[in-house]
Amino acid sequence: MQPFDFVRERDIPSAVKAGSRIDAKFIAGGTNLVDLMRCDVERPSHIVDINSIQLSTIEQVQGGVRIGALVRMSDLAADPLIIKNFPAISQALLLSASPQIRNMASIGGNLMQRTRCPYFRELTWTPCNKRNPGSGCSAIDGENRLHAVLGVSDACIATHPSDLAVAVAALDGVLTLHGPKGDRKVNATDFHLLPGSTPDIEHDLKQGEMITSLFIPDAPHAKRSSYLKIRDRAAYEFALTSAAVGLDLEGSTIRSARVAFGGVGTKPWRAKAAESVLVGKNATADVFRAAAEAEMKSAVAHRQNGFKIELMKRTLVRALSDLAGGVA
Ligand code: SF4
Repeated sequence: MQPFDFVRERDIPSAVKAGSRIDAKFIAGGTNLVDLMRCDVERPSHIVDINSIQLSTIEQVQGGVRIGALVRMSDLAADPLIIKNFPAISQALLLSASPQIRNMASIGGNLMQRTRCPYFRELTWTPCNKRNPGSGCSAIDGENRLHAVLGVSDACIATHPSDLAVAVAALDGVLTLHGPKGDRKVNATDFHLLPGSTPDIEHDLKQGEMITSLFIPDAPHAKRSSYLKIRDRAAYEFALTSAAVGLDLEGSTIRSARVAFGGVGTKPWRAKAAESVLVGKNATADVFRAAAEAEMKSAVAHRQNGFKIELMKRTLVRALSDLAGGVA
């Protein structure tokens, strides 16, 4: 591990000033950053501990809920307001990581976590454009069973690992970022970036900026929402496929729908094509399947991950069927 200096800041302006230095990183729970520092993938010169800043509240505000960036995953998952009004958020968190990690990891850090592509963390320094821009991608012709089929590029096919980010994308989350120029708001769907030719640039966050809060708007489709995760084992495992879904139903007619996919995208994947198929239709398995087909039309498989395309379609049909009350 590269040597680094360490400061603990107690307010946002001081943290932003310290975090604006080249090669500085903020640390909250540290469940991802410390891992990556241990294997030399992350090599910050300055660590800025932000755990003493007052950003750990969950507040009902006009039009929705505001969640401080330092709220722990386990606290958010167990919050009665979240369980009642945004069940997909709570479910996504409870299906993430392990209880120990959820007790440590912050909401802001969860949204910032980096891919679990094994080549990205490979100690022998195999080519990886995300870790070492321009070196190539070992996964495209290598082990790619767990890799993405949506949003891929010739430079990178790694999935985004966060479950929470998928639920946040589905429910129209908005992030507040604070940096040297003050606050700005970014829709969660715009925060994470497609890899394109620059997979090392993963999100819309400038040096020195930090996530301070996450807003989720109230909506009928948020109240009736859920998160379904399919994985190789039942605990402590990343998604092969997952679906965050929300429905507002009038009888059996879908008034509004929200859909996002995990495990298949290079970023948390808001499924707008699927939503367009659903709105105004009756909630039937055939309609759900048509929605899945529409979204997965653009999927690109590599040698080992073609199974994810059909699995994702079935995941969506099951998630929507369960949410609509078990339609046939
Ligand atoms: Fe690196 Fe992305 Fe290729 Fe994985 S998929 S080896 S993270 S460039």
